Amino acid sequence: MIDMKELKERILRDGKCFEGGVLKVDNFINHQMDPILMKSMAVEFVRRFAHKKINKVLTIEASGIAPAIMVGYLLEVPVVFAKKKVPVTMENMLATKVYSFTKDRTYDVCMSKDFLCPDDKVLFIDDFLANGNAAKGIIDLVKQAGAELVGMGFLIEKSFQEGGEWLRKEGIHVESLAIIESLDNCQIKLK
Ligand code: 5GP
Repeated sequence: MIDMKELKERILRDGKCFEGGVLKVDNFINHQMDPILMKSMAVEFVRRFAHKKINKVLTIEASGIAPAIMVGYLLEVPVVFAKKKVPVTMENMLATKVYSFTKDRTYDVCMSKDFLCPDDKVLFIDDFLANGNAAKGIIDLVKQAGAELVGMGFLIEKSFQEGGEWLRKEGIHVESLAIIESLDNCQIKLK
């Protein structure tokens, strides 16, 4: 397994801790984006899921879109993002509810059935894995569509929250490029 040294160094250099176990990575992932690092991370996902058959990359707006499009570009497969606002024009909708712990609210997540079909083999990509609520919502949408979830890839997993453990117990192939063990006392502790 290639150690994502570049990502880890960047987290330590530019990441900022916030109350309640939130890490801000706004100058290379979540607001300003570093496309070179984003590409390296996508290459690593492609390597880690190389033995899997994937014909679609799925993510959730907004922050999952950048890494997902890089992965989809490398795999040469379509990228679909689940939407957090229900468009009035959407037909054939799949919908679920997701609780956001950073925003402390529940929102509806939806996508068109036209872009998630029973024969799809889906790789989900997102920026963060925390309690796994976004991931659970995606699992629900994939189930509703009758598609197959091949794996889930996260740029950053916070292992002091329960999402990673839950997903792995469910037998899902989870890959995280950097794992944060603790943000206690505003200190970033990486695995
Ligand atoms: P979960 O659904 O796993 O609890 O949280 C994952 C989602 O919440 C991600 O899509 C991400 O947008 C957001 N998130 C969770 N924890 C953090 C964090 O520490 N920093 C940032 N920037 N976003 C987070």
